[in-house]
Amino acid sequence: MPNLGERCQWGRPFWLVGMLIKNNHSGFSLIEILVVCAMLGILASIAVSSYFGYMERAKEKICNINCLRLEGEYQAYLLMEDVEHKEARFDEFMKEYGKKVCPKQGDVRYVNGRVECNLHPRGEEDDGGEGVPFL
Ligand SMILES: [Zn+2]
Repeated sequence: MPNLGERCQWGRPFWLVGMLIKNNHSGFSLIEILVVCAMLGILASIAVSSYFGYMERAKEKICNINCLRLEGEYQAYLLMEDVEHKEARFDEFMKEYGKKVCPKQGDVRYVNGRVECNLHPRGEEDDGGEGVPFL
């Protein structure tokens, strides 16, 4: 049982000084907290940048798939109607198509038998090696 009446050198009771001045070996120091905050900041910046990169790639793939589908439907329309491609005809087809092709509102054109978005070029037809590898 501690002596509650005992006083320190400043005249305060020891039990009060013990509450006000914490033991130096318990809890975290300022440096430790700063290091943890810096590490969390670095991890958060990596996570946020990779998230936005992932979202950008997803939008590009959505646009490419929509362009491919639109291309097939437009070519089927040209065959069914037995007409040649014209810019005005493609614009009219786009108005009737009614679906959003590019998630970022890119300008969609029909050039050389392919539907292309000016923001997300499709490139070649290979999938960049991201599919199932050949065994
Ligand atoms: Zn696009």
